[in-house]
Amino acid sequence: MFVDKVRISVKAGNGGNGAVAFHREKFVAAGGPDGGDGGKGGNIVLRVNDHMSTLMDFRYQRKYTAENGADGQGSRCSGKRGADLVIQVPRGTVVRDAQSNEVIKDMSDSADYILCRGGRGGWGNRHFATPTRQVPRFAKSGLPGDEHDVILELKLLADVGLVGFPNVGKSTLLSVTSNARPKIANYHFTTLYPNLGVIYVDEGVSFVMADIPGIIEGAAEGAGLGHDFLRHIDRCRLIVHIVDVSGCEDRDPVDDFEKINAELAGYSADLASRPMIVAANKCDLIPDGSDNLERLRKHVEALGCPFYEISAATTQGTKQLMRVIAGKLQTLPPVIVYEPEYVKPLPQAGQANDLLIEQTNDTWIISGKWMQRLMADINFADYESRMYFDRELRRCGLFTRLEEMGIEDGDTVSIYDFEFEYER
Ligand code: GDP
Ligand code: MG
Repeated sequence: MFVDKVRISVKAGNGGNGAVAFHREKFVAAGGPDGGDGGKGGNIVLRVNDHMSTLMDFRYQRKYTAENGADGQGSRCSGKRGADLVIQVPRGTVVRDAQSNEVIKDMSDSADYILCRGGRGGWGNRHFATPTRQVPRFAKSGLPGDEHDVILELKLLADVGLVGFPNVGKSTLLSVTSNARPKIANYHFTTLYPNLGVIYVDEGVSFVMADIPGIIEGAAEGAGLGHDFLRHIDRCRLIVHIVDVSGCEDRDPVDDFEKINAELAGYSADLASRPMIVAANKCDLIPDGSDNLERLRKHVEALGCPFYEISAATTQGTKQLMRVIAGKLQTLPPVIVYEPEYVKPLPQAGQANDLLIEQTNDTWIISGKWMQRLMADINFADYESRMYFDRELRRCGLFTRLEEMGIEDGDTVSIYDFEFEYER
């Protein structure tokens, strides 16, 4: 079973809670606050593994959760950071947001990608000692880690995609020109996995060619095997269209050629307009008197496509074809890499009434579920984000509520790991 599309849920670790503790030592009266901070939650990290070629492993595990940060402890001990969870994917895996289907990341280079960030740890009470607040009896909870439902979709990275009817010799061509050893047999649909082969043309000149399961009529509407596999040639720079001109299956090559092109167009206009080279295969089998080859040549050349005669089985013309392909590739743009489209929406504030407000001296400590989420997603180093946070707080009516409770100018508002002085 070849698996090349899965949906998974991932969740980064939550931050640990800060501790409330006071320094104790023999002969030392009333030590200061020394509660340590909670550890940060572990991230969800994606990493390319070149030994993987399918998304099979994800069929059995759909949920991935990174470790939470540990709670802080007394004596200024910070909680241990939660370990990152590294999820390995095959090269060419495109990660999409499950709801919008927007691209989050194309895992086609080798850099690790942090898909979800762990929550920050909560601060221990040692952070909250000020001249007017010497005995802070509070600490902060950690913030929740990011979670996300995503779709992983494998789109192979190949320069050249082989297309054609089943049994025309695509796998044979790949096997005689590359290191790949695809399954070859004289019946339709032998190729159930896409195969990749590297073709070395000359010193320093090589390319990757993909052989995908045969496209058949109606594949673009979802019939048969072909449609799903077309995504593996989405990124290709060049399409090599193999047509059987021997007539050994009683089909007409011009007809075959047009049907496959129609399938490509039905799948994506973009793919249909990709540069194409046509190779007439099984030239060794053409019966005397057949005009198949010449008719196809005329038809293809009239469309402006380069046309070559080969016999994959006897390797006649295959080396030459590979040279032509390599030359053509030099003139084409690189393999398509999908740009990220997804932008994480900022969480909105909930109701001020759902927040817990505790007052100790001149400090107002705010907590609550939605506030945790909001805090986790705000980047306080970024001015725009801080402004957004400020607007959301006003909008939710928090300040009105604080004033009703008697907050005064100069008091401290303390929201998880963010504190500010209140000013009307
Ligand atoms: P695919 O379905 O397009 O991958 O086709 P295969 O590569 O599996 O080939 C189908 C059959 O055609 C196999 O029996 C091959 O040996 C045979 N074949 C492929 N190319 C040629 C060729 O150039 N000449 C001859 N005589 N047979 C070929
Ligand atoms: Mg095949």
